Amino acid sequence: MKINDLLIQGTELLKQNGITTCVLDAQLLLAHYLKVDKLFVINNRKTDLAEWEGYFDLLSRRAKHEPMAYILGKKEFMSLDFYVDNNVLIPRPDTETLVEYVIGVIKNKRVNVLDIGTGSGCIGISVLANCKHCKVTGLDVSDEALQVAVRNAENNKVIRRFKTLKCDILNEVPEGEYNAIVSNPPYIPPKVIETLEDDVKNFEPYHALYGGEDGFDFYKKISDTGKKILTDKYLMALEVGHDQGEKVMEILKKDGYENITAIKDLAGILRVVIAHSSKF
Ligand code: GLN
Repeated sequence: MKINDLLIQGTELLKQNGITTCVLDAQLLLAHYLKVDKLFVINNRKTDLAEWEGYFDLLSRRAKHEPMAYILGKKEFMSLDFYVDNNVLIPRPDTETLVEYVIGVIKNKRVNVLDIGTGSGCIGISVLANCKHCKVTGLDVSDEALQVAVRNAENNKVIRRFKTLKCDILNEVPEGEYNAIVSNPPYIPPKVIETLEDDVKNFEPYHALYGGEDGFDFYKKISDTGKKILTDKYLMALEVGHDQGEKVMEILKKDGYENITAIKDLAGILRVVIAHSSKF
């Protein structure tokens, strides 16, 4: 069959299943199947292929609304490539606001960072790639997630400064002492999870989304944990849900953190809550 016919059939199949990005996704899936880039399939529409069954396997996964990142096994974040599978949350562009801020304040400092709920490792690894003198410990409750994070630290050539720590932050105090805590914790209440798109709620790990009944379990716990494991010279930087900024600032204030501020994203929403000691 010709590439052009495969693209038309693929697009149609995805469209019938409610995939709004059907044209692009069909191109990307065919390119992935053929192990070429997207431009190749666009520029070689007349090429006849002897085999194509595997392409339809990929299409049928997408037709069930499995996210493209899991099918392709990768997602770009902070201009780096991350391997992802369904053991980890797919890195979101929203999270770049947090990472850019953290990179800006750490720069060349020697900082020992704890990335709580590291998942794919996207936060900690992007910080390592941009801050040559810092070290990161990626903490997660899931062994599978930690394996993904290690793979990403290796692929992005920062493994020498990356350590993992398996820890259930809600029930254990992590070992060690740190100058910074960064986190994009699970923060969605169960009622809201029900309303999320199928791509998210049927495929991404529930424990990476669920933030307790009110969505604040992890913020309360991270704030409390920080008092035990952060040094006098500290930075705390947390991503928050679109309506959680004020409340998370209050939680940190109650626990005695200093210099509490929030950063808005490009849409003007409070996205990141920061606290730091005057010395940091
Ligand atoms: N730290 C990872 C990220 O920002 C995972 C976050 C999570 O699982 N809640 O993508």
